[in-house]
Amino acid sequence: SYRKGGYHAVRVGDSFAAGRFIAQRKLGWGQFSTVWLAYDTQTSKYVALKIQKSAPEFVQAAAHEIEILSTITENDPKNEKCVVQLVDHFKHRGPNGQHLCMVLEFLGDSILHLIRYNRYKGINLIKIREICRCVLTGLDYLHRELHILHTDLKPENILLVSTVNPSKDPIKSKTPPILQRPEGSLAGGAAVNVIEKKLKQRARRAVAKIAAERRGGAPEPKPERSLDGIDFRCKIVDLGNACGADKPIAEEIQTRQYRAPEVILQSGYSFPVDMWSFACTAFELATGEMMFAPKPGPGFSEDELSMSYLLRIKHNDHLALMMELLGKMPRKIAVGGGRSKDYFDRHGDLKRIRRLKHSSLSRLLIDKFKFPETDAQEFAEFLNPILDFDPERRPTAQQCLQHPWLRQTAAKTAS
Ligand code: ADP
Ligand code: MG
Repeated sequence: SYRKGGYHAVRVGDSFAAGRFIAQRKLGWGQFSTVWLAYDTQTSKYVALKIQKSAPEFVQAAAHEIEILSTITENDPKNEKCVVQLVDHFKHRGPNGQHLCMVLEFLGDSILHLIRYNRYKGINLIKIREICRCVLTGLDYLHRELHILHTDLKPENILLVSTVNPSKDPIKSKTPPILQRPEGSLAGGAAVNVIEKKLKQRARRAVAKIAAERRGGAPEPKPERSLDGIDFRCKIVDLGNACGADKPIAEEIQTRQYRAPEVILQSGYSFPVDMWSFACTAFELATGEMMFAPKPGPGFSEDELSMSYLLRIKHNDHLALMMELLGKMPRKIAVGGGRSKDYFDRHGDLKRIRRLKHSSLSRLLIDKFKFPETDAQEFAEFLNPILDFDPERRPTAQQCLQHPWLRQTAAKTAS
C-alpha cells in the first residue's frame, strides 16, 4: 500500500507542516491511514498525526472526517465529552501524492489492546463501568447534541486517555523528543537490528523448547497481569465512517461482529446501531470474547464459495447466534427489511439453519464465563434492553447513563 495513492512512508524524525511536527514513532494504522506520535514544536506537546492515503477517494473521506471532527471539537470547548479532538489539519506532499493529515490529541492504547494485555480473561466489572460511562457520554454527545452516528464503534476505536507523557515514559525517559533524524543513520542501523533480533529470537525459541519438554508439552502457564494504576477514562476515536443522522453514509455499515440486525436486514438505521455495537463491546470487555463471531457453517471453505453467497451464509449464522442468545426475533422485524427474504421465510423463521441452541445472556455469563450469579444477572439486565431487536425500543445513550448498573459504585459492589 506504500505506492501512488496509498500510504505515506514516514521515518522517525520526519517533519511536517513546515517543520512544526516531528514524527516520533508509529502508533497504529487503519485501512485508510497510518497514525504517528509526533512532537509539536509550537506547543511542546505530543500529538497523534493521522496521515491519510492520497488517492482522491481517501482525500475526500479525510475531508469529511475533518469536517465532523471540527464540529465535535468546536462544540466541546472544555474537552469533557469523551470524543477525540482535532488540533489542526494540513496537506502534505510526498512521493505517493498529496495526503490530508489530521492532528489529533494524543491518546493511549485502545481497549482492544487492554483486552489482549489482560490475556482475554475479561476485565473487572468495576473498571468496565468506568469505560462504559465514558463511551456512553461520548455517544450521548454525538447522538443527542450533534445528531451524528459513529457507525463503527468497537474496541479498536475506543482509546484510553493517556496519562503518560511520552517523554516521561520510564522506558523512554532517556530519549528526549526527536527533533531531527540523524542523516543517513537509519539504513545501516536497521540492518544490524534485524540480524540481532533474529539471533535473539532463535535463542529464545531454543530455551522455550527445552522448557516445554520439561512440562511434557503443556503450554506455558501465563502469570496474571495486574491492571492496577491504569486510568480507565477513554474516548471514542475514528470518525472516518461517521455521518449525520439524516445522511446515511452507506447501506452496509459497521464492522461485522458489531453490526446491528437492522443493518443486516436493511430495514433502515439510525442512532440505535451505535447502541448495539456498544453492548457488543461491553460484553467483549467483560468476557474477553466477541459477543457474536459469525462464521460459515462446517463443510464450507471460504474459497469454495462466491463472496456474495459466503456473505449470506455468514449473515444467516450471525442472525442465528443473535437469536440463540436473545430469543426469537419478532416476526414483524424479521420480515420487515429489504433483505429479509434472503434469511427468513414468511413465518419469520430462519431459512437453512441448524437447530438453534437457546440460552440467555445471564446463563452464558454464569455457565461459560463463570460469573457470580448476581454479577451476571445485573450485567445482563443492563445489556439486554440495548440488544432489543427492535431498534426503536433500545434505550438511548442518555437513558443508559441513568441505569442503576452504571451508578453502582465500588463500595456497593464490595458489600
Ligand atoms: P482508520 O480510520 O484508518 O481506522 P483510526 O482513526 O482508527 O484510523 O486510527 C488507527 C489507529 O491509530 C487506532 O486504532 C489507534 O491505534 C491509533 N490512533 C488513532 N488515533 C489516535 C490518537 N488520537 N492517539 C493515539 N493513537 C491513535
Ligand atoms: Mg479504525
